[in-house]
Amino acid sequence: MNDCYVKEFSATVTATDNNLIELDKTAFYPTGGGVMHDTGWLLRGSDEFLVMNVVKKDGRVWHEVAAVGLQVGDAVIGRLDWARRYKLMRMHTAAHLLSAVFYKEASLLITGNQIDTEVSRIDFNMETFDKDLIGSFVTKANQLIKQDAEVKIYFLDREEAMRIPAVVKLAGALPPNVPKLRIVEIAGIDLQADGGCHVSRISEIGEIVLQKLENKGKNNRRLYYVLT
Ligand SMILES: [Zn+2]
Repeated sequence: MNDCYVKEFSATVTATDNNLIELDKTAFYPTGGGVMHDTGWLLRGSDEFLVMNVVKKDGRVWHEVAAVGLQVGDAVIGRLDWARRYKLMRMHTAAHLLSAVFYKEASLLITGNQIDTEVSRIDFNMETFDKDLIGSFVTKANQLIKQDAEVKIYFLDREEAMRIPAVVKLAGALPPNVPKLRIVEIAGIDLQADGGCHVSRISEIGEIVLQKLENKGKNNRRLYYVLT
């Protein structure tokens, strides 16, 4: 939540359910908010447990491992598949950047997203299906990447956060009773309440390439993008 660049950490097993493992702390991101989960390993001495999936259920994070054997109280090292996680971070920050451009240029709102390692997609509420205009938004996002803005992550009291228009705009999607909101800010470009992992500067995104556009019915368009 504070440092998206933690690649390895120490933890203790606090609960098991067959091949589902809960830890006292974790850097593994569970699938959520339209973003795919991390993978990696839990290491106990020379034993390696492959983490294939990570899910969040009732506020608890469960690591789905490929083999049983971990016990409550075991000390483990968690190690992320960093290549995968870093791709997801670049893709996720790219989605925020695109949403900022779509909103600034045409007041378009993102209605859904699927962030994955190779191809990601965002849905947005656009009345017309103007492919050239959408293409120009991607070009604009790539121009912004060259400015290399910093991505800041911090927590604000809910009351204070609710005075920021960009946060209020999305407030319907927030859990109602959280006293502190985690803010992800692309300096000078975008600000959102968000629980995900991001790169620390937007130059790390690389270049956004529009792969495909789809017409998903009334006011609903879908953009697929890849990164180079
Ligand atoms: Zn996000």
